[in-house]
Amino acid sequence: MTRYRRTGFTLIELLVVVSIIGVLMAVLVPALGRAREQAKFVRCKANLKSYGVLALMYIDDNDGIMPSAWTSFYNSHQEYRGEPHRYCRWHNPDYDLEQHPEYAGPFWRYLKGKDIHICPSFPKIAKRYGPVHPEHVDGVPIVPNYSYSMNSYLGSTENTPKSMTGIKRHSEVFFFGEENLWITAPYNRYAFNDTAMCVYQQWDSFGTFHLTRDPEEGVVNAVFLDGQVQTVHREDSWRYCAPDGASKSPLNDQAL
Ligand SMILES: [Zn+2]
Ligand SMILES: [Zn+2]
Repeated sequence: MTRYRRTGFTLIELLVVVSIIGVLMAVLVPALGRAREQAKFVRCKANLKSYGVLALMYIDDNDGIMPSAWTSFYNSHQEYRGEPHRYCRWHNPDYDLEQHPEYAGPFWRYLKGKDIHICPSFPKIAKRYGPVHPEHVDGVPIVPNYSYSMNSYLGSTENTPKSMTGIKRHSEVFFFGEENLWITAPYNRYAFNDTAMCVYQQWDSFGTFHLTRDPEEGVVNAVFLDGQVQTVHREDSWRYCAPDGASKSPLNDQAL
């Protein structure tokens, strides 16, 4: 009897192995990508949960009076000395509040020292859309300082303090949420720039960049006045800004 020892793979066997690996990669790589995006999404929700709790602590310590949405995080709505543009504050390292607490608004005392200011899905979006943002000044580095903005409807103005107790249906009014860095008519006339989300004025809307391949088609997160975090769609923006109907969608009823 002749013993026949094989010493290696035939070409056919090699091709079979290679194609099996190819199929496994095709199945596993998108699944891993989805798992990574899911993990970022969960982290984003946890950030917003903390934001809600800590900001409510501030309000509780201040007799239930809301700060202005524009001066809650930074203490000025105007440009600081030497600032290239206040709309670049969200990504200008010169306005990192950990380094420059002199610029901090009232919420900062409660939010500082915590790694909760930036949604983990945001840096990639920032890198892509920051340099082509409609209000961007060339040369300011894109290093995000924050990625969540406050519902402007809730903010006190200089002459009119807004009280937490005057706002009804806390589970239907968002407190902080996420915006996109680009404009998609007719939903938003401004992109994410300051710390105020002005759904009330029909300027801004919820973003669309989470859990999606097409950044126009996804969802984002928002924390509500009752402290709950919800996943929201762009079309939810007007409903959740002010349930008394003070904010109107720029879309006609048919489109909704
Ligand atoms: Zn997020
Ligand atoms: Zn900019």
